[in-house]
Amino acid sequence: MAILEDPLRLVIGDKAAKPLEKALELRAVGDLMRHYPRRYETRGELTDLASLTDGEYVTVQAEVAKVTSRPMRNRRGSIFEATVTDGHGMLVLTFFGRGRQDWRERQLTPGVLGLFSGQVSTFRGKRQLAHPEYELLDAGEDAAHAAAEYAAEMIPVYPAAKEITSWQIARSVRVVLDVLDVEDPMPRAIRDRHGLCGLADALRGIHRPVDWADVQRSRHRLKWDEAFLLQVVLAQRRLAAAAYSATPRPRTPGGLLDAYDARLPFELTVGQQLAGAQIADELALDHAMHRLLQGEVGSGKTVIAVRAMLQVVDGGGQAALLAPTEVLAQQHYRSITEQLGPLGQAGELGGAETATRVALLTGSLGAAARRRALLEAASGTAGIVIGTHALLEEQVQFADLGLVVIDEQHRFGVEQRDALRAKAGEGRPHLLVMTATPIPRTVAMTVFGDLEMSTLTELPAGRSPIATHVVPAAEKPHYLERTWHRVREEAGRGRQCYVVCPRIGDGPGSVSGPDTEDAGQADTAQDDAEQAGGGRPPIAVLDLADDLERGALAGLRVAVLHGRLPPDEKDSVMLAFAAGSVDVLVTTTVVEVGVDVPNATVMVIMDADRFGVSQLHQLRGRVGRGRHEGLCLLVTEAEAGGKSRQRLDAVAATLDGFKLSRLDLEQRREGDVLGAAQAGRRSSLKLLTLLQDEDLIGDARKEAQHLVEADPALAGQPTLATAVRVLLEREQAEYLEKA
Ligand code: ADP
Ligand code: MG
Repeated sequence: MAILEDPLRLVIGDKAAKPLEKALELRAVGDLMRHYPRRYETRGELTDLASLTDGEYVTVQAEVAKVTSRPMRNRRGSIFEATVTDGHGMLVLTFFGRGRQDWRERQLTPGVLGLFSGQVSTFRGKRQLAHPEYELLDAGEDAAHAAAEYAAEMIPVYPAAKEITSWQIARSVRVVLDVLDVEDPMPRAIRDRHGLCGLADALRGIHRPVDWADVQRSRHRLKWDEAFLLQVVLAQRRLAAAAYSATPRPRTPGGLLDAYDARLPFELTVGQQLAGAQIADELALDHAMHRLLQGEVGSGKTVIAVRAMLQVVDGGGQAALLAPTEVLAQQHYRSITEQLGPLGQAGELGGAETATRVALLTGSLGAAARRRALLEAASGTAGIVIGTHALLEEQVQFADLGLVVIDEQHRFGVEQRDALRAKAGEGRPHLLVMTATPIPRTVAMTVFGDLEMSTLTELPAGRSPIATHVVPAAEKPHYLERTWHRVREEAGRGRQCYVVCPRIGDGPGSVSGPDTEDAGQADTAQDDAEQAGGGRPPIAVLDLADDLERGALAGLRVAVLHGRLPPDEKDSVMLAFAAGSVDVLVTTTVVEVGVDVPNATVMVIMDADRFGVSQLHQLRGRVGRGRHEGLCLLVTEAEAGGKSRQRLDAVAATLDGFKLSRLDLEQRREGDVLGAAQAGRRSSLKLLTLLQDEDLIGDARKEAQHLVEADPALAGQPTLATAVRVLLEREQAEYLEKA
């Protein structure tokens, strides 16, 4: 008998095991059992040969139509050709032999049905498989291929490789299934409640189904396994996190927070009040808060973060705010210092009595400024320390770190989160993670499943609407002219404009390329085949800025911003734009996250089809932040009706970030959404799809939560405990590989 953890070679032998490991990385019995068929051929139903494309490795079911054999012209040996058919199309199988190939001729006789596997190519206008592997489906002369092998009506077709064919995999699967002894990790009660079949049944049913119902039942159960296991891990993490002690920082009446609230020029929205209250309560507890705050672009997350930080400072601790880019760190520093006024000027003339200090720590600080910031953090003088990745460096120390706030989480991995938290010494700081990209519920449950969640759904009152239009620059060049005309009009009214390009371009003495400071989101549009512009490179900041200054926007104050500028120049450009002394900022996506200039009203996005849906939504959120209406123009040369255009139309049609993030998820590979930091998670989800299996994931989460609450160490569920251990080891291994 074999169990899932056994090495494959012990069960199927070295010879069969080797190609499985080499080509498909299947080492243990469980790996092979979770290498699921891609599809099923129904016995006797021929594969549509017209669907084949060159270069593909395929396994087709077809019937031999005719065969020919001839000697090779220049060498000894023969060429044997069999033409197979699906009833309409033809496919030529070519075999080269050293001698005569009579034996093949005896096997591949007209009328015989078989599975043929190889790489598709075209030779002299005919589709062919050169030297395919094959397996005949009729119990013909060769008794080894007898009926027993293909007793089932449904023939699984596996993801295969050059080294190993689908039916070789199928054969190993059968050997394993015959000796497999699985214990079911899922508690009986849960299976019963959700009508799930046993694991042994499900594995048999997915590999050797009797009918479609069998496949469905088995898949459903195996999806549950994936969701449930992951949720058990997350539930354990939540529980473990809750057990970490933290210093309670209850609200202090008459402290900085009260003074800050009194200074606020607006009322908090209901959502802000609710989220704020949740956070305030959790900060007062003696175990660490782990909360995700998600909200639409412009919903006012920063204020919530500042209020949480001040509560901690009032309680004698420090707070660190981690931002993904230098531009954003600078902006936070400026706006928070400004909002605090005298409350942030401890030790300065005019500083309030209870005041604290705000320090900024980024990679580009001069030596003196850096030393000062490090000192303020280490001594505790700075209650609030804002920074980029530089905050994670070893030299950075805090006197008493009580709260870590991470802005725009999607750019940080779990390990960075932990690196910063580790600076709190004993115990743990409270943690607040903010994400600007609204995430569908299931993704939140899967990727951020170890965090509690607050969501801001409304925007502050008085926000002006944003109108979005697609500008089809190829079909209607005059629309582009009109775009620049609009920019001039807005500038004439004293307002400002962003023009975003996908690329920096060739500055003097530097190479061309995408903006490196913006290493965050994978740009899915990038490899979209029907993308605009054919072979031309994407529009570049430096080129366009030059053109506009000389042409369409002559006379306006145009500045450029991108990740290759020296940091202090970046900062001064941003400052100038914020101060209104620049009319038009031509920039890369460094402005994507968080940048807040209320006087900016127009966002022009060039080659908009090169950006992902969520990214466009983020960019658009940079305008319409003040009293004036926002306008977002998506300039593209992508063809009307094509996929890229549909994506842009969708962005133009709604301002609902949650809707758009679902769309984004549909269009990206799931692995990209789960993110690089979640490598193990990616490979553990084989059948589960985050969008379609929402209910299932929700149910699995509830069950997992109950189970783990009652039995945190899974002492009563040894099989489940083993499965969890295997998952974690794998996640760990993949993480190390990546690092
Ligand atoms: P985001 O959630 O995208 O990070 P911000 O925190 O940058 O949004 O807030 C966007 C703008 O809205 C800021 O200028 C902020 O001062 C302002 N703001 C925040 N909350 C409110 C509110 N309740 N009423 C009015 N304006 C607000
Ligand atoms: Mg923000």
